Amino acid sequence: MGVIERYSELLPVTEKTPKLTLGEGSTPLVHLDNISEMLGIELWAKLEGCNPSGSFKDRGMVMAVAKALESGAKALVCASTGNTSASAAAYAAAANVPCFVLLPAGKVALGKLAQALMYGATVIAVNGNFDRALEMAREAAEKEGYAIVNSVNPYRLWGQRSGAWEICEALGKAPDWHAIPVGNAGNISAYWAGYKQYQELGKIDKLPRMMGFQAAGAAPLVTGEPCPNPETVATAIRIGNPVSAHLAKEAVAMSSGEFNSVTDEEILAAQLLLSSKGGIFAEPASCAPLAGLIKFKKEGRLPRGITAVMILTGNGLKDPDTAMSQVGRPLEIGDSLEELLAVMKK
Ligand SMILES: *Cc1c(COP(=O)(O)O)cnc(C)c1O
Repeated sequence: MGVIERYSELLPVTEKTPKLTLGEGSTPLVHLDNISEMLGIELWAKLEGCNPSGSFKDRGMVMAVAKALESGAKALVCASTGNTSASAAAYAAAANVPCFVLLPAGKVALGKLAQALMYGATVIAVNGNFDRALEMAREAAEKEGYAIVNSVNPYRLWGQRSGAWEICEALGKAPDWHAIPVGNAGNISAYWAGYKQYQELGKIDKLPRMMGFQAAGAAPLVTGEPCPNPETVATAIRIGNPVSAHLAKEAVAMSSGEFNSVTDEEILAAQLLLSSKGGIFAEPASCAPLAGLIKFKKEGRLPRGITAVMILTGNGLKDPDTAMSQVGRPLEIGDSLEELLAVMKK
């Protein structure tokens, strides 16, 4: 059951909303035994890379595209650091509607680019950063009467609330800490809204602390001002001027949470740890929260025994280049058993 059907009573859908789905949502929540022990907490990972296009973007995109179809939109437009375009292109294909995606030229991970092209979107590389591409997408959508499916589209954040609902259902409560990467700041805002909605409905009593993690080279919510030239290996959060900054700040303030930043080195180390000790391959941006928890632990600021959920926003297969730059090559041998046994003994 997809997000619209599973949560139709909680979402702004009507009989006229198409029951669009690619099977998004209902992703696994996995307890990470080894890393929990290292950190002295109960650490759970929400595997958003298991969504149909490989990232959490599908939760909101299914809603945005369904609502665009309901209102008779002729085409979809978005700007993207990669995953939004992959998701928009996938749902556009399923819904049989044209899709234009604007990407910052040369700054999109290979897997995401391959997806957008394979799903048949018109892919346009903009020689400018993401923030500029988004401005252009918004203006073009308005001029042409197309539906913009970036997170400025309110239905995106509605659909993304479903992640919080699933976590509460799986744990029987909200976690103590909700750790999440922050780029355009829509997802942290959506999770907060989702938890609050569940509290209002009496399904949970306590709300989590919202802990948002940015890359040090793209950390406007940590420094308090827009970052004109964002740079980070975590391309999905390479954003200098988050559209939902106001909502994210409110979520962090109201939940006694915090924004923090982690360096690219810390992100890559966390990615390798998650793979090699957790068995989960997530893309670099998704590993900012784990890098952050490790940093808190080092600083003596990670309370023992808390339940923390981290949102692994995207699949590691999206960005094979960054992964390969972290690890060695395979061992290579001839076709003799002796050689095989020799390398196995090393
Ligand atoms: C989009 C994205 C983010 C950032 O989410 P925001 O809602 O923009 O803060 C983080 N990780 C991945 C993998 C993403 O695709």
